[in-house]
Amino acid sequence: MNYHSTRDKSAAVSAAQAIVKGLSPDGGLFVPQSVPRLSRFEIEALVKMNYNERAVDILKRFLTDFEREEIKACVDRAYNKEKFETDSVAPLYKLSGGTYILELWHGPTFAFKDMALQILPHLLTMSAKKAGIMDEITILVATSGDTGKAALEGFCDVENTRIIVFYPKDGVSNIQKLQMVTQDGKNVGVCSVLGNFDDAQNGVKEIFRDKGFAKELKEKNIILSSANSINWGRLVPQIVYYFSAYADLLKNEEISMGAEINIVVPTGNFGNILAAYYARRMGLPVKKLICASNANNVLTDFIATGIYDRNRSFKTTVSPSMDILISSNLERFLYDVTGCDTEKVIGWMNELQQNGRYEVDGETKELMSEILWAGYCDDESTLKTIKQTEEEYSYVVDTHTAVAVNVYGQYVKSTGDGTKTVIASTASPFKFSESVAYAVFGRDEVDGREEFEIIEMLSRRLGMRIPKKLSELKEKPVRFTQACEPADMKDMVKKLLEFERR
Ligand SMILES: *Cc1c(COP(=O)(O)O)cnc(C)c1O
Repeated sequence: MNYHSTRDKSAAVSAAQAIVKGLSPDGGLFVPQSVPRLSRFEIEALVKMNYNERAVDILKRFLTDFEREEIKACVDRAYNKEKFETDSVAPLYKLSGGTYILELWHGPTFAFKDMALQILPHLLTMSAKKAGIMDEITILVATSGDTGKAALEGFCDVENTRIIVFYPKDGVSNIQKLQMVTQDGKNVGVCSVLGNFDDAQNGVKEIFRDKGFAKELKEKNIILSSANSINWGRLVPQIVYYFSAYADLLKNEEISMGAEINIVVPTGNFGNILAAYYARRMGLPVKKLICASNANNVLTDFIATGIYDRNRSFKTTVSPSMDILISSNLERFLYDVTGCDTEKVIGWMNELQQNGRYEVDGETKELMSEILWAGYCDDESTLKTIKQTEEEYSYVVDTHTAVAVNVYGQYVKSTGDGTKTVIASTASPFKFSESVAYAVFGRDEVDGREEFEIIEMLSRRLGMRIPKKLSELKEKPVRFTQACEPADMKDMVKKLLEFERR
């Protein structure tokens, strides 16, 4: 199967090329030329498989230029006991009669980004080999927290790659910073930027655009690449866990084959929910996809009105990984619901670029709301939901998952729909421990305490062991203390590359 851009159907590339390139040169995103479908029997066959076998089964339908054994090798390197603290990789927890929590945070950095970033480096190096690229791949990442660490863990000591991560000096949580500056690995570099996330992001984008620099690096057999969520190689592994959740529901006899389910996803860049949409397109019986946002509710408005408008103030919330005003992966969704209408997509994306706003036509809006239901909740409701969920079910969710739980409550209230529902849980409650502790214990109990003390309090309350990689952080030596101005990021890349070359 081949891939082409959401803005141009004429130039086809292989899966390997799509993964190596990341973004299409015309600014569009790579999409498969057709979406494979699973028959009833093929979905039922997943029930007997373990997570890795399910992953191979789904991935091979998209990565048709890979051998089955190659995909299996990538899958086994990504999802194993050393990396994931549970055998089932993405276990399903039954919260109540018809509500299930899909725990996507048992990987090394305690957030769902591991599901894709543990396997992407292996898909990428294999793709590069297939595309005949002999150069070393250097990944540049600007992060607001979760992606940077997950990418560092994923690329750590992967042959023929290096990774450099920039984070805003005062823009990440304490734990997130510690996670990054103590990162192991011979091929990693981390640097703080004296600015905010946008400064770091723009700095990285500028380096990517710098043709002279690319040439300079190429002479040293280095090419730059990115690991952000518009890469197809990050999206496709996320489709797997929705099929896996359905297979687990069948296996546990919670549903019978063919029964529809709803899926709720706490959404930022629209990557995770897009994977659920692809699963639906592939034949997974999904009734509604419920898109949950925090106070940055651009998507809620969009799905309600058909108007996407990023001209609003950016809000900092207790669910920071969803603080985003431009959801890049929406482009793939629009491409698909318009029946692959590149003209429309180009028009809207140009308007977004120029005016920060676009409006889709009535038909597209209609199609969208047949599939999607959207809602949002603010910080106060997020914390309340954490408390209520604990009281009602003795189960503690993190702030991002709490947004999803809250919005699902709104959905049920507004529609009365009793369809069984899977809620994607995107982070461990330990990862955003301070906010979770505020919700569970109240501010008075938490203020003034050290982060690790709070984590221990939570651990006792939840009856949950602190993940090993989290407790280790306290003692780990800091390896990276570099800081630079946004304008000096390119020099820092050079310096870090030299440093590692010795
Ligand atoms: C990245 C992230 C999200 C948002 O996922 P998208 O694919 O960007 O929509 C939600 N929750 C957590 C914890 C995340 O790290």
